[in-house]
Amino acid sequence: MPRNFLETMNSSIRPFRYAGANSSLHCDQASLTSLAAKFGTPLYVYSRSHIAGRFEIFDRAFAHRPHLICYAVKANPNLSILKFLARMGSGFDIVSGGELERVLLAGRRAARRAVFSGVGKTAEEIDLALRTGILLFNVESGAEAELLAARARRLRLKARVSLRVNPDVFAETHPYISTGLREHKFGIGIGESHKIYRQMAKEPFLEPVGVSVHIGSQIRSAEPFGVAMERVAELVEQLKSTGIRIQYVDAGGGVGVEYVGFDAQDGKKRAAFDPQDVAARYAAAIDRALRGLDVTLLLEPGRFLVAQAGALLTRILYVKRNGRKNFLITDAGMNDLIRPALYRAHHEILPVVRDRAAGMSTFDVVGPVCETGDFFARGRRLQRAKSGDLLALLDTGAYGMSLSSNYNSRPRPAEVLVEGGRARLIRKRETVADLLRAERSGLL
Ligand SMILES: *Cc1c(COP(=O)(O)O)cnc(C)c1O
Repeated sequence: MPRNFLETMNSSIRPFRYAGANSSLHCDQASLTSLAAKFGTPLYVYSRSHIAGRFEIFDRAFAHRPHLICYAVKANPNLSILKFLARMGSGFDIVSGGELERVLLAGRRAARRAVFSGVGKTAEEIDLALRTGILLFNVESGAEAELLAARARRLRLKARVSLRVNPDVFAETHPYISTGLREHKFGIGIGESHKIYRQMAKEPFLEPVGVSVHIGSQIRSAEPFGVAMERVAELVEQLKSTGIRIQYVDAGGGVGVEYVGFDAQDGKKRAAFDPQDVAARYAAAIDRALRGLDVTLLLEPGRFLVAQAGALLTRILYVKRNGRKNFLITDAGMNDLIRPALYRAHHEILPVVRDRAAGMSTFDVVGPVCETGDFFARGRRLQRAKSGDLLALLDTGAYGMSLSSNYNSRPRPAEVLVEGGRARLIRKRETVADLLRAERSGLL
């Protein structure tokens, strides 16, 4: 059996490692076997100290300039995680009224550190954000600027506004999570933005004080961020010459993480991922572009802060052979974790209990949902397993639970937050009764 990558990599990459006499997987000091017994499966498990560590790494990379980290709530919107990040001083990037309500529950002060992104804000969402007194509206069209001006006038509340410009930068990532090209629905072309800034400057209740970008997600090179920031810096200078003083530059999110830890095909360990180095290179690229601009830098990391803090714990229901293929059928499905189906994303899968005598085989790891796309891995070399064994799908702290659904009338998993050796239930497992609560059949 190949040596496990978790033992050979920098311990700060993931909080999951094997420990104990029977070599079982732990999240920090909490045994995943015990967590499965106590809370059931499928179960999302997150490490609090790992999230704290990532926040600090990111924060420290920008320590030399005024900045605010606005955690992208959509990556993982669990209230306990928001509250914890708020306590660490984080602001928030929200994309809906629902996310704003969550941030308000995490703390009223935190909500004043929120920036509101998204191409389709409704009047109700805008009103809630105005009344809350959020830090900044990231406006994505001329029409939205007009609606915001009208709502602000009506409520007699000032709105600080940033235009999300589209820097027309290509970032190498999956097409579904690339957002910075002219052809995408996001943002406003830089050329066009001047006119909207001028119009906004005339509005008594709008304060055009920011420029924002967000070029995509899971971007593994610092270069496209630097190129986008160059274009933003140029715009800030041009706006200054027309009397519009920009105080905030919002660099968006998108810093990627390493999902592959061990390549079972060639048996070689992939290049190690050093989160500190990634944050430093990202900060350097942004710094170089912003040079001496006197602005507060806003950053909207989501994935980088939480992805590797989490694992989805699942139990094998059946081991099945169809023709020449071996299947492990798990109690988690694509409704619980859709990234493999949606983005062909790779997640490392580890046996929770290592058994050196079991040997290896090639498996498709699939869920119970009635879709061929319901898979977590295809043709993966894994320890041979039997019904009842536990598997951990790594790096599922971001865009895991937040993209989950009730497809096939499946209640969503519970979530626990590990703090050292203790685990706290931060979301109860849904029940079928929860799913049915909103439905009405009495009219028939
Ligand atoms: C999704 C999103 C983010 C976070 O992206 P990550 O890749 O998770 O860092 C930040 N800002 C905006 C506007 C987004 O839409």
